[in-house]
Amino acid sequence: MAEELLVVSNLKKYYPITGGVLGSEIGVVKAVDDISFSIRRGETLGLVGESGCGKSTTGRSLLRLIEPTSGKVYFDGVDVTALKPEEMRKMRRDMQIVFQDPFASLNPRHNIAKILEEPLIVHGVGSSAERRKRVEHMLEVVGLNSYHARRYPHQFSGGQRQRIGIARALMLNPKLIVADEPVSALDVSIQSQVLNLMQDLQREMGLTYLFIAHDLSVVRHISDRVGVMYLGRIVELATSSQLYTKPLHPYTQALLSAVPVPDPDDVRERVILQGDVPSPANPPSGCTFHTRCPHVMEECRTVRPPFQDVGDGHYVACHLYKTD
Ligand code: SF4
Repeated sequence: MAEELLVVSNLKKYYPITGGVLGSEIGVVKAVDDISFSIRRGETLGLVGESGCGKSTTGRSLLRLIEPTSGKVYFDGVDVTALKPEEMRKMRRDMQIVFQDPFASLNPRHNIAKILEEPLIVHGVGSSAERRKRVEHMLEVVGLNSYHARRYPHQFSGGQRQRIGIARALMLNPKLIVADEPVSALDVSIQSQVLNLMQDLQREMGLTYLFIAHDLSVVRHISDRVGVMYLGRIVELATSSQLYTKPLHPYTQALLSAVPVPDPDDVRERVILQGDVPSPANPPSGCTFHTRCPHVMEECRTVRPPFQDVGDGHYVACHLYKTD
């Protein structure tokens, strides 16, 4: 059995921009622009970046909830980009998603039993009695009670609703969970409870996570490795400890300098980035970060830096780090 559960190769998601009287294509938004990474079985890969950097589009493209423009996604050795709709539907048993806003993703007219049972019905799993048992069991697994099955989404707090979102994703015993900002809408005190729950479930059920967040401090403790995205590309990918102790890319350095540290002796210089994130419809040439980078050099404006391993599996796309 291969060590990697998920391999993403040169994934792109472009959206056409249409205009003019004839509605012809006048440009493209490069939401995800040629990214490659893999996730090992049982691993958590964090994917971080500002809003609009393409991290959620990446998560949804690899599940084919939106169709990628090009590139390959191998899940457990199977090229999911080549699957027919019916084959993809079956594959989704093993690849589930947890959304940011649990309230919006839970049908307000259905009680929790119905919401949790639905994936089992769609995939024809179990008898009605078996499904009910599984609902009760899964509610307990995520720290709720079986009597909660009769209640409706509005009767729960935000943290409880996210537990229900996680229970729903786990109903079919998946291998991979794409968690798309699962704690961003929750209070800080509730965030750590949900993160701890996700870590416990990972250990118990052998889950593999792609954990998407806009905040480096959220992914720090849950991730084995972290990828940092900027304008549709991964600019740095490393283990959590490499990334947090020795960030290489100037963008990662700026993001990390904004994360508060509990140690008063650890005085970090705050890097304030100039300007806004450029539009992905008109990204800068060369290194797309060059319009905001404090270390910009001449070649950065014209030459796209390769994404390369600069040692010990620490990948970075920046001309400051040449390997040859
Ligand atoms: Fe900055 Fe140049 Fe590195 Fe881009 S390639 S991050 S502009 S130094």
